[in-house]
Amino acid sequence: MTLDDAALQKFGFVPRPAKDRINIDPLQTGGKLTDEARRALVEWGDGYSVCDTCGGVLDLIKKPPIHALVHDALPEFLGVDQMRITHGARESKFAVMHSIASEGVYVVLDGLAHYSSTVAAQRARLNILKVPHSERPDYWIDLEGYGTAIEEVISQTGKKPALALLTYPDGSYGNLPDAKKIASVCHEYDVPLLLNCAYSVGRMPVNAKSIGADFIAGSGHKSMASSGPIGVLGINDDHGDYSDIVFRKSPTNPNKELEMLGCTARGATVMTMMASFPKVVERTRHWDKEVADARWFSQQLEDLGLTQMGERPHNHDLMFFEAPVFYDISKKIKKGRYFLYKELKAREIHGIKAGLTKFFKLSTYGVGREDLSYIVDSFDEIIQKYQ
Ligand SMILES: *Cc1c(COP(=O)(O)O)cnc(C)c1O
Repeated sequence: MTLDDAALQKFGFVPRPAKDRINIDPLQTGGKLTDEARRALVEWGDGYSVCDTCGGVLDLIKKPPIHALVHDALPEFLGVDQMRITHGARESKFAVMHSIASEGVYVVLDGLAHYSSTVAAQRARLNILKVPHSERPDYWIDLEGYGTAIEEVISQTGKKPALALLTYPDGSYGNLPDAKKIASVCHEYDVPLLLNCAYSVGRMPVNAKSIGADFIAGSGHKSMASSGPIGVLGINDDHGDYSDIVFRKSPTNPNKELEMLGCTARGATVMTMMASFPKVVERTRHWDKEVADARWFSQQLEDLGLTQMGERPHNHDLMFFEAPVFYDISKKIKKGRYFLYKELKAREIHGIKAGLTKFFKLSTYGVGREDLSYIVDSFDEIIQKYQ
């Protein structure tokens, strides 16, 4: 077969139609580009576009000002001593796990940890013990569970775990446990804590120093209005010389950090993060308003017969709802599973997965009260229509 235009069309390699007017897909609300980032994407789109003045270390490049981003602006924003740009939150977690733990050692993960934390640990050949969470409706991680899990690892293996990880918030229910208390429990055992902030850094204020976290992983394409794949890894050296370990250099290529494979985001991705950064900083200052919107929206949906799972009152824009009203409708009608998706699509609302009715998650981040009201009205209309 030749790769002519017709063949490429057949594969579906054609420009994607614009997303619906309103987007509540949790994966996408915090990663939408600013106008500045959209321009940067085009301007810096050529391969290796940032490398003109590179002396061998990406984060030391002064023109464009990657040095200022990595060594001044982002460390201040994250509350860390050292940071690097990575290709995503998972690459940040892997770099930490791979460097501070050796094969067969345990890491302790919260029971709601994202799959990418699990595969990062597996790729680093580590063992995993999970801190349990409560069941429906709260799915709450018990703080003391970290102490119990650490003690269990010690009693079974004679060695403390190399790392504890907290997903902050978790990617299913949007719960925000008391990270500061968990950090101090971990430090009682001299175990460092990594905060997986894929859903928080870039949306809400998070400061590793004030929490007492040793490592912080963030996701540019999830929460920092960046075109990915791009992430951040921050290290706080208050409880150990962790940055020396994670950012250690090659014995043969003394410029090149091993865990970064020498160089990470060498093109447009880092430039979109830089271009969005001022607005990202600014938007985290209005987090109170986002939380108020999420709580308001949750209450409105509950009035329609849905139930919000997880922490209540909620403290994050990511929310999980059980929707028996929609599930009952789906059982009554033909091709029922897809009715909700189609009805929302017809109203230009994107983001609830096609085929889901019984429960789903969504995000209210940056949507604003007016469009949230429109979504509530749309849900109400859909319920009326089928009942
Ligand atoms: C999306 C997500 C990730 C993955 O982030 P990447 O930057 O794509 O690696 C990790 N953890 C949680 C909780 C997430 O929701």
